[in-house]
Amino acid sequence: MKKNPQQRIEELRKLITQYDYEYYVLAQPQISDYEYDKLLAELLQLEKENPQLSTPDSPTQRVGSDLSNEFKTIVHRVPMLSLSNTYGEEELLDFDRRVREGLPSNEKIEYVCELKIDGVSVSLKYKNGLLAYAATRGDGAAGEDVTNNVKTIKSVPLSYSKKGGGKLKLDDIEVRGEIYMEVEAFNKMNAERELEGEKVFANPRNSTAGTIKLLDSKQVAKRPLQIFTYFLFSNSDGLASHHENLKLLSSLGFRVNPNYKLCTSINDVLEFCKEWEEKRDTLPYEIDGVVVKVNSLKQQKILGSIAKSPRWAVAFKFKAKQAVTKLNKIVWQVGRTGTLTPVAELEPVFLAGSTISRATLHNMDEINRKDIREGDYVTIEKGGDVIPKVVSVDLSKRGKNSKPVEIPDKCPVCKSKLYQPEEEVAIYCENNSCPAQVKGRLSHFSARGAMDIEGLGDALINLFVEMKFLHDCADIYNLKSKREELINIERLGEKSVDNLLTSIEQSKEKPFDKVLFAIGIRYVGSGAAKKIADHFLEIDNLMKASAEEIEAIHEIGPSISKSIERYFADQKNIKLVERLKKTGLRFSTEKKEPASNKLNGKSFVLTGTLSSMSRDEAKEIIIANGGTVISSVSKNTNYVVVGESPGSKFDKAQKLGITILSEEEFLKMIK
Ligand code: NAD
Repeated sequence: MKKNPQQRIEELRKLITQYDYEYYVLAQPQISDYEYDKLLAELLQLEKENPQLSTPDSPTQRVGSDLSNEFKTIVHRVPMLSLSNTYGEEELLDFDRRVREGLPSNEKIEYVCELKIDGVSVSLKYKNGLLAYAATRGDGAAGEDVTNNVKTIKSVPLSYSKKGGGKLKLDDIEVRGEIYMEVEAFNKMNAERELEGEKVFANPRNSTAGTIKLLDSKQVAKRPLQIFTYFLFSNSDGLASHHENLKLLSSLGFRVNPNYKLCTSINDVLEFCKEWEEKRDTLPYEIDGVVVKVNSLKQQKILGSIAKSPRWAVAFKFKAKQAVTKLNKIVWQVGRTGTLTPVAELEPVFLAGSTISRATLHNMDEINRKDIREGDYVTIEKGGDVIPKVVSVDLSKRGKNSKPVEIPDKCPVCKSKLYQPEEEVAIYCENNSCPAQVKGRLSHFSARGAMDIEGLGDALINLFVEMKFLHDCADIYNLKSKREELINIERLGEKSVDNLLTSIEQSKEKPFDKVLFAIGIRYVGSGAAKKIADHFLEIDNLMKASAEEIEAIHEIGPSISKSIERYFADQKNIKLVERLKKTGLRFSTEKKEPASNKLNGKSFVLTGTLSSMSRDEAKEIIIANGGTVISSVSKNTNYVVVGESPGSKFDKAQKLGITILSEEEFLKMIK
């Protein structure tokens, strides 16, 4: 049955928001970039066809956010935007046409081409020549304060020599760049992690994103991070072009990628893109395209920006890297919810910096659509993605005896019966105690974003399940009684066992919503878990709730509510929750009663960096005292609390004559 556009739009927005969270915040993407881009393109198209359904909070209107609430937020003076993508010559020519249309006719246009480094962007703010703070892109308007972590990167100057700026007055500047990891250093680090039984990272980009958000700078210092800088902002009047700025950055002592070029025509740009698409593998780090920027800063200003990206720059994205190889066998993997996923075992082939021997086939529909069979020669593709995929089959090379793939008749791991719910493509193993499901659930439970148990990676989980130490997630909290046995396991040793046991104990501090997410109820992602926890406050209330009551929560749909109802209808799950409760995990959260009513009826807008608290903490204080927090200033706003480096909200508040409060004045109000 085809869904109506509104339903599909809502479904896509929910999915993309969840994938954004997993990609930007957790640095653990659950789908490939290719699949993500397809979903986003479908949403864009539907919104274009149905403009009445467009909303300002749609993921098509927003810069993907990495905000995690674990760091202080810092407002960007100039928003840190994303880039719009072009995938070929025609789209690049379209970009050139739009630039020309946006500028006075006959104006000379130059472009600067730079390599698009596949890492994580950062903003470095210098005051009087000294590094004052470093922030992530966040949601584009404000990022997270990762100064201590960034300071551990040796190639980030802690101060710069103003002499390099000649006559320019460069006291306070902002420099932006990309933090990344070289492929070789990344592979070495992953190999070491594997040996230690820790989780390995999927690619250098995810590893960089995860590292920059670690709470312990000492750990960050151990990881091989690097930086290339590519933007300079200054109040100095002398800055005229991006090309000069890149040279200026170098002479100030910043690391700039040497492979940039000033182009006087779009054909030069195209040539640069083609050249680097071919040469990309010769670099020691990963690039996923070329960034093309209008050179003149004056022209950049005239062109301005749209919601998500500037009009004066574009990313030319490289095609995913492909290789041809033989598909030897199709095996079926069983996930934590029992889903069977077909996986292709390939003749190992070198592609995009690593040797590939497996590729995902998604589901039976995909196999049938592409007519994939064992023994086929297939083209595989990797687009900066976690798992490569099979794109097509070379039918001319198919052997005479080849046979279509058959769905297995029992679970390949535990041999139990399989079932296929109506309207689903996926097939499931019905045995909840299937070892593959058990391992999958344990891995989900201990992952970052859930209980975050450092040291309990897949290798150890597999070992502990096989040694019968772990049958379910409650057993994790019983591992401390097996300390001696664990120490005797050859590759573990006393220190790593004690570290593991400490992080298991620490996980007991995780709030109710993380626990609810960690127990792994199908369809309950981390965002949904937070909303449900905040609504029901206690697990007992949730257990008693009907699907209708759960669905009454804003943005919680029927698939989630029914899945929760089904989960708690099973006595085994209730027993598990009871055991987890006994270990001391948090299954309730407190409703925040106002601490006072001193701010009753008053509305606040926050801007700039506060020194004694993060903006989320300030928000909580305001709400706890009866006030409300709004995101933009209007004439109805009562107060604007201003921290360091405030944004445009400060200017607007001054214009409208709204009462401005310093951090101290604000704190006095609630004393
Ligand atoms: P982007 O990565 O495509 O482009 C913008 C970024 O390019 C900038 O923020 C900057 O960090 C970087 N950059 C690198 N070199 C640069 C240079 N020389 N000059 C300027 N900028 C440079 O955009 P995005 O919004 O960060 O991410 C979108 C991408 O992330 C898409 O390709 C999408 O597939 C992927 N994504 C994947 C998932 C998933 O679940 N797999 C989820 C969300 C996003």
